[in-house]
Formats: sequence, structure tokens, C-alpha cells
Amino acid sequence: TSVSPHVPPIARVRPLTCTETRRGDRRVVHSLGDGAVHVSATSPPGGRGELRHPLSCLCPHAQVSAGRHDATFGFSAVFDAGASQEAVFEGSGMRQLVELAIDGFSCTVFAFGQTGSGKTYTLMGPLAQSETQPAAPALLGLMQRSFACLLEQSRSRGSDLALSASYLEIYNEQVRDLLSPGPPCALPLRWSKTRGFYVENQLSVDFESLEAIVSLLLQGSQRRRTSAHALNRHSSRSHALLTIHIRSRAVSTCPALGEGLGLIPSTCPSKQGTLCFVDLAGSERVKETGSSGELSMEANSINRSLLALGHCISLLAKPRGKWTHIPYRDSKLTRLLARSLGGSGITLMVACISPSSRCLSETLSTLHYASRARRVTTRP
Ligand code: ADP
Ligand code: MG
Repeated sequence: TSVSPHVPPIARVRPLTCTETRRGDRRVVHSLGDGAVHVSATSPPGGRGELRHPLSCLCPHAQVSAGRHDATFGFSAVFDAGASQEAVFEGSGMRQLVELAIDGFSCTVFAFGQTGSGKTYTLMGPLAQSETQPAAPALLGLMQRSFACLLEQSRSRGSDLALSASYLEIYNEQVRDLLSPGPPCALPLRWSKTRGFYVENQLSVDFESLEAIVSLLLQGSQRRRTSAHALNRHSSRSHALLTIHIRSRAVSTCPALGEGLGLIPSTCPSKQGTLCFVDLAGSERVKETGSSGELSMEANSINRSLLALGHCISLLAKPRGKWTHIPYRDSKLTRLLARSLGGSGITLMVACISPSSRCLSETLSTLHYASRARRVTTRP
């Protein structure tokens, strides 16, 4: 497969919601075609004024002050309000990513943007009302489409792929297993020379059918969602990582060695790829008011990990000769993403954007964050 190791971010601008339309929000984000996103707005006088965004130290231009904003950002592709889930899947390069994962690469898709910008919608589609009332197939997100593509490829290649899934969330800098039954408990994140960073005792569940993996996804996100009722806005306050491990069993008889000698077939070096979907916690700034106790701890953890991620990305974005130490250890998120961000990984970033005038400052931050990532080059 000839694919550039450099996968620049894509952007998805969701439609205005009914609530936003009803209260008269204006659309301030427009796709100009050819991968350009244009933001144009005038801040209301005495509006939100100078903002200190958690990522603003990385992007000095992300400071938004009252006045006129006109900015254009370039992406490899932009999907605007009218784009279907299928169009996003086909136009994002997701299909190629699935193929690369089958070929043994570490592939990661991450959706980022403020709460309510469409991250979960893009990855999973609208949440099903109930198990008996699943979302319409046309609305299924990148994940379900990738699973279908993976299982289809696996069948058509006639290769014997062993598939398993793990599903974790990082909440308040604690790693939790979303697939293990019972109350969520924190798992230790360790490092070894051979494995790199890994989560100890993480459950990995084998699957062979689309139904099985979709059901694992629902179970896990339900677990993430259940806690949303107990803890304030928990679901958007955690990062969720679903990883598909793809091992080609490639049991070959290696004829030169084994033939005639009655040797049991030896397993030739098998390829091991991963396909990881990351639903990042909302990137909105800490509200100065009302952030106390638990809430401020949540906000701090999120900011810390998004900052660490932004920091790693901006260092990786430097010209190759100038690569320095990349501080993956600064957060659990960057440790878990170390392989896909740096070494031999291929990463697709999806910047999710609300078109509403009320979200202007967060939208600009998201766009600046994405333009940093544009320059990251990985080496598959
Ligand atoms: P996030 O995960 O970023 O917090 P969601 O994915 O939950 O945001 O989206 C917020 C709301 O907007 C949901 O009601 C969702 O169904 C809706 N939405 C998001 N993206 C789209 C889209 N492209 N088309 C239609 N509705 C969308
Ligand atoms: Mg979400």
C-alpha cells in the first residue's frame, strides 16, 4: 500500500443544533472547499474578551480578543454540515488506515474538540436510544464502519486474522477498563523495553463477528455513560480509547525447514497491528466560576493531558533533525499514545467543530491545535 506516513488532520463541522438555531446563534464557520475552513465573526462588545485556553501557551495566536476575527485554516479534507457519515468514512482515509493496521501498523484516529462539537457522533454515531432500538445504519460512525471494513477485508484476504479488543478510559489521570465487569477500578500503566507502555491486567476480548465487536463497544460506552449520571458530565470528562489488536496468525509450514522431517508447522513471524479510536475529553477551558473540588480536579486532569498531548505534537512537528526528547511520560494519555504518535504510528486527527457564534473561541483553539498537528510526521 502506498500511503504517505504523514496524515494531516481533517475537520468536521457539525450542523447547528435545534437549540442553537432557536436561540438565534449565527453560523461563523464555513467550508470554502479544497480543505479550507473559514471562520468569520465579530465578537459582541464586552463579550468573552481575552481568553486563557489550556492550549494557548502552545498557540500564542489562540488568544482571542474582542473584535473582528477572520481566519482560514487548511486541512486535508473538510466535512461540513451536510456531509454524511459515509462521506466522512470514505473521504477521511479511514479505509486505508484499516488496511495499514491489518498490515501490521499502529494506527490511531483521534477526535478532539470542545464538548458538544460532534466527537462521539463522528466516531460512533448518535447514541442508540436502547439496545432494542439501535441507531439507523446510515448514521453509524467511523468505528462501526471500520469494524465492518476490517472483518470484510479479513474474509476477502483469506488470511487468518486473530482479532481482539480492549477499551479503556482515562479519568482524572486514572486508567480504567471499560470491558471488565464490576465497578471501575484503576489499572497501573507500566513500561517495558519490549512492550513500551502498557496497561497491566487490561482485559482484551477476542471477537470474530461484527455483532460481537459492536456489542463490546456498546457495553463499554454504556459503562462510560452510566457513570455520567453519577458524576457530573463524566462522559465528556474522560478520554476513551478503544483498541483493536490485529494479529495475523500466518501459520505457515515453512517447507524448507519442516517438510519431510515431520515437524509441526512453525509459525512464521506474524504481523501485529493495532487500530485505536480515541474520543478525547472536551477541550473547553476551565470555567473560572463553579470549578471546585471534583470539577476542578477533572478540569485540571484534562488540561494536563491535552497540554501534554499538544506539547508532544508540537515537538514532533519540528523538523526531523531537531527532534529532541518527546515527553510522553507527562500524562497517561501521551504514554498510551506514544507508539502511534511517535515511532511507527500513523495518526488521523479529526478536529470536530461547532459552527455556532457562541463557540467561536473554542473553535479557534481547536483549529489552531489542529494546525500544529499538521506538521507531525511519523515513520511507519
Ligand atoms: P461530543 O462528543 O463532542 O461532546 P456529540 O457527538 O455528543 O459531541 O454531539 C453533540 C450533539 O450534536 C449530539 O446531539 C449529536 O447527535 C449532534 N451532532 C454532532 N455531530 C452531528 C452531525 N454531523 N450531524 C448531526 N448531528 C450531530
Ligand atoms: Mg462525546
